[in-house]
Amino acid sequence: MLRIENLRAAYGDAIALHDVSMTVQAGEITGILGPNGAGKSTLLKSIAGHLRPSGGAIYLDDEPIHRLAPYDVAERGIALVPEGRRVFSSLSVQDNLLVGGSAKRARSQRRRQLDEVYALFPRLQERRLQDAGTLSGGEQQMVAIGRALMLQPRLILLDEPSLGLAPLVTALVFETIRQIGDTGVTMLLVEQNASQALTSAARGYVLEQGRVVFSGDQHELRGSPAVRDAYLGVTSD
Ligand code: ATP
Repeated sequence: MLRIENLRAAYGDAIALHDVSMTVQAGEITGILGPNGAGKSTLLKSIAGHLRPSGGAIYLDDEPIHRLAPYDVAERGIALVPEGRRVFSSLSVQDNLLVGGSAKRARSQRRRQLDEVYALFPRLQERRLQDAGTLSGGEQQMVAIGRALMLQPRLILLDEPSLGLAPLVTALVFETIRQIGDTGVTMLLVEQNASQALTSAARGYVLEQGRVVFSGDQHELRGSPAVRDAYLGVTSD
């Protein structure tokens, strides 16, 4: 579904991505692992149109999307769940969700989609009139994921959904991600919690210093001594 070819991105003179190439298969969860500063968020921002790449290309079903503005990328069904959730604190839960469904592709189905999001997250329905800023971190993550679902997305870009969440809440968030994956939505999942990521993702890539240093399916990643040493807290023999 998504093909990235020799992508380069920079902040001024500082190059954050060097010739990154990867593919995301329709209907799968693809994981991106890597240490802080590896370029994972930069990759998602580039796909979502928030950062104009300095080279290379991104194709969605063979259509180049790397020069599109964020709202045009969204109209093609790509939704970003940003790092740190970025909910609108002083808007109600429901208004946060409705914002996610304001793109042309989703507007006519907004009410129906809202019911689907509430069916997935009953807690959000209970709190629909509450300001999103008053929710717990886990609930705010659900709002951020729900807001992305309101776009009726083909592809969801998830940037570290477990950031700052307690282990039990993290497990719940990943259970939801797998549930969404089971409905056929394609996802690109950036995650520091490699163990959770590799339970959810069919395949993945490891980024270091802006470069892809390893890629493979779930089993190849788990079996790689470099991945085990660096990300799974298991020392290889
Ligand atoms: P983290 O897990 O810490 O979010 P990451 O893998 O997502 O890390 P990025 O946030 O993409 O990494 O950062 C890649 C590089 O780009 C880093 O060297 C970072 O310092 C730099 N960088 C990121 N955002 C900016 C910015 N707005 N201005 C300048 N440099 C930036």
